[in-house]
Amino acid sequence: MANNKIVKSKESNILFNKLGKEFAAIYNPEFIFPGYELVPLAPIIKAPIKGLKAVVMDMDGTTTTTEELCTHSLEIMVRKITGRLSSSQWTGLDHEKDYPNIIGNSTTKHVEYLIKKYGSGIVKEELANSYIYAALWTLLIGQDDSRKAEVRTNMINLGLKDVLTEKKYLALQNISQVSSKELNSLFKALRSKYSTLFKGVTFNDLVKASIDIYYQKYHEILFQIDKGESKKLAAQFLGDKNKHLIEPMTGVPVFLALIKGLLGADVKFVINELINSFYDNPAAISGSELKRIEKSIIKLSLNFEKKPAKVAVVTSSIHYEANIVLKEVFKVIHEEIEKWNLPAERKTKLLEHFSDHNRFYNAFITASDSNEIRLKPHRDLYSIALHQLAIPKNDFNQVIGLEDSESGTIAIRAAGVGLCVAVPFIKTTGHNFEAAAYVANKGLSEIILKHNCFLK
Ligand SMILES: [Mg+2]
Repeated sequence: MANNKIVKSKESNILFNKLGKEFAAIYNPEFIFPGYELVPLAPIIKAPIKGLKAVVMDMDGTTTTTEELCTHSLEIMVRKITGRLSSSQWTGLDHEKDYPNIIGNSTTKHVEYLIKKYGSGIVKEELANSYIYAALWTLLIGQDDSRKAEVRTNMINLGLKDVLTEKKYLALQNISQVSSKELNSLFKALRSKYSTLFKGVTFNDLVKASIDIYYQKYHEILFQIDKGESKKLAAQFLGDKNKHLIEPMTGVPVFLALIKGLLGADVKFVINELINSFYDNPAAISGSELKRIEKSIIKLSLNFEKKPAKVAVVTSSIHYEANIVLKEVFKVIHEEIEKWNLPAERKTKLLEHFSDHNRFYNAFITASDSNEIRLKPHRDLYSIALHQLAIPKNDFNQVIGLEDSESGTIAIRAAGVGLCVAVPFIKTTGHNFEAAAYVANKGLSEIILKHNCFLK
């Protein structure tokens, strides 16, 4: 039977049982055959491990605070297609009910959920106009070629093919930097002619169009950040230009420096960074307890100095997005390290390591390495990461996977990593983390202070 590639369901049960004891049902986007797939999960690892070879970790919500910008852009998309732009017309997405369904999966799955829930409120003309604007922006101002290609295909399928040969459009296409003023006047000139031709009616059409509207909003924000307008955006979104729109999640800078073996015995100078985010009342910790903590962290840090772990960032965002996000996050990490009270030589070394995310990570895997239909909770991105890190399958039990969402934790286990740790943040605490071996509600400092990075 082992050589039979086609088996009947009875035999397939036998093969299935050999694959493992636990499986995840992964539901595909509507246009995919089959509707769902059952994938085996690596057995959960609870016991301390003998060594840590690698950490594979998610970006949005685990490494960075970007998830807020994604959910904001999804909400704007719903507002645009339903014509309910102000909060008096619609209060917005429901944190409890909506957030578990729009964080951590592929954009297609997030948008499918929103169209099922809010699609009955769609106003055809608003949808058509929003779509035309988003498509023009993506083609004329957007920076990602694969997005442009998808938008062109969608325009043809949605009845807007002739926009692509309009003289006014072609004239702007030859300009290297189209201004928003030029874009707006083109949009005004074309919308009345084309909004009636827009023929998005089926569920899949609505999803495709809404995905393009979402991406346009999100990429517009990233485009501004990339142009160095973070402070202006922070003032607009957070009401304070000195706050960071995109930051590392708490504990990320120390955690990354620690496991890469960059801190050595000098970890004692940054212990407070961890203690303050883990203990509710750090002032109440006794002197002897502090000594014990310091001793054990120094031991852990020296261990990593001798045997650094490899680190991969693994995200369902496309490369264009992830590159801007990580560039911004590493800039903020730099600012944080500048404030650490470290010996000068150590600080210089750290700053150099954190000067470029492309150099820092041993692997940087994005949706662009796979395909929208194979993103988390499918294992592919994590499998690619483990392969790029050159971790043999036998050593997967010395890898930690970190995720803030349900589908991310499933992807880690599906890729063969049993030591899967959920690090939820405020918007994902409602997720189901049955797939995780541990849930570290206090994040990365908990993994270090409470679990000693799961090392013996
Ligand atoms: Mg995430």
